[in-house]
Amino acid sequence: MRPLSHSSINLYLDCPKKWQFKYIDKIPEKPRHFFSFGKTVHDALEYLYGGQTLPPPNLEQLLERYEKRWISEGYQSPQQEEDYKTQGRRILEEYYAKHIDSFRLPYFVEYEFLLKVDGVSVRGFVDRIDKIGDDALEILDYKTGKAIPKSRVEQDAQLTMYQMACEELLGLKVEKLTFYHLPSQTPLTSGRRSGDAVKELRERIVTTAKQIQDERFDPKPSERKCDWCDYKPLCPVFKHLYAAQESPEEVPAIRSDAKLSKLVDKFGKMKEDLKEREAKVEEVREEIVAALKELNYIRAFGKKYEVTVHRDDHWDFSKEHKPKVLEEIRAAGFWDSIVGPLAPKVQKLMKDPNLPLPLRDRLQRLGKFREQTTLRVKKLAEEE
Ligand code: SF4
Repeated sequence: MRPLSHSSINLYLDCPKKWQFKYIDKIPEKPRHFFSFGKTVHDALEYLYGGQTLPPPNLEQLLERYEKRWISEGYQSPQQEEDYKTQGRRILEEYYAKHIDSFRLPYFVEYEFLLKVDGVSVRGFVDRIDKIGDDALEILDYKTGKAIPKSRVEQDAQLTMYQMACEELLGLKVEKLTFYHLPSQTPLTSGRRSGDAVKELRERIVTTAKQIQDERFDPKPSERKCDWCDYKPLCPVFKHLYAAQESPEEVPAIRSDAKLSKLVDKFGKMKEDLKEREAKVEEVREEIVAALKELNYIRAFGKKYEVTVHRDDHWDFSKEHKPKVLEEIRAAGFWDSIVGPLAPKVQKLMKDPNLPLPLRDRLQRLGKFREQTTLRVKKLAEEE
C-alpha cells in the first residue's frame, strides 16, 4: 500500500470514495489556483532558508526566484493571477523585513520523512525545523490560506504527525509546534503534543490503513464536499445524473431512470409550489400582525378561522459577538441551560475527523446511530 500522509488520511476520512478515485484509480483532480499559489510561496521560502551558508539570499534574489518559479495553473483569469502574484510579493517582502535581522540557518528545510506506524508507512514533508538550544526542536509549517484559529494549532493532527516523525527519526524532543500564517505574518505556536494525542493519531493511522486494505470505499456525500468534487460525474451517488462517459466534462446530464426521473420532477414541482405558497403565507401573516398591532388586539376572527398572536422576546447576536456571549454564559455557570445533548454542535463534533478515537468510541457507545435523510431539490436549467 502507498504510504499515507496527513492529507491523504484526511481525504479518506472526508470521503473514502474520493480517496479511491484519487489514489487507486489515479484520476487527477483539476488544478486549483490556491495550491499553485501555496506551492510558489513555499518554494521561495525554501530558497531563502535552503542554502547551507550565510548570508542568505537578498530580497531581490528572493523575488527573482519567486517570479521565475511562479506556477500559473488553476487561476480563473489573468486578473486573478496578477492579484495573487502581487499578494505573494507583498507576503515575501513583509516576511523578509520581519525576519532578516534574526536570520539563522534552520536545522532542516523541506524535511521529508518516511516512517512506520505499527507496520503502516507514513510519509510527509515538514516545511522547516529549527533547533531550540542544543537538543530541542521547533516545527514550522507555513500556511497561505485563511486565518487559522488558535484552537486548531493546539489540536491539528498534521503537527502531531510531524512531532511524532521528527522525534522518532531525529531523536530530539519537539518543544514547539508552529503554524506560520504568511498573509498576516502571524506565528501561531503551541507546546508539544501529549502522549495521548500521539497515541490517538497512531490509532487513526492504523484504522484508516485497515479500512483501505479492506477496500472500504463508500461515498460520504455532503453538499459542501460534493459541489467542489471533481469526481462527481464518476461517483455512484450522482450516477443517475450522468451518462457513462469517458470524459466527465463532455457528456450532458441525462436522467437514466424514467420512474425515478418522474418522481424527482414531481417532488421538485411540489417543493417549488410550496415555496411560493409559503411566501404568500408570510405576506398575509405580516399584514395580519401589523393590523393586530395597530388595533392593539391579540386575537382576530374570520368566518372559518381565528388567529392569536404570541409575542416573544428574541435577541440577535452578531457572528463577531457570539464567542464572547458563549464565554460569558459558560463563565457564569449557565452552559448546561443552552447546550442539550442533541445540540447541532454535538452532531458536528461527531463528524470531525480530528475527534480523538477513544472519545468517538465512548460517545458512539452512549448513542444510537440513525441515518438522517434530507432531500435537497434544485431546479435544473430549462432545456432549449
Ligand atoms: S461526489 Fe461527494 S460522495 Fe462522490 S466522491 Fe466526491 S465527495 Fe465523495
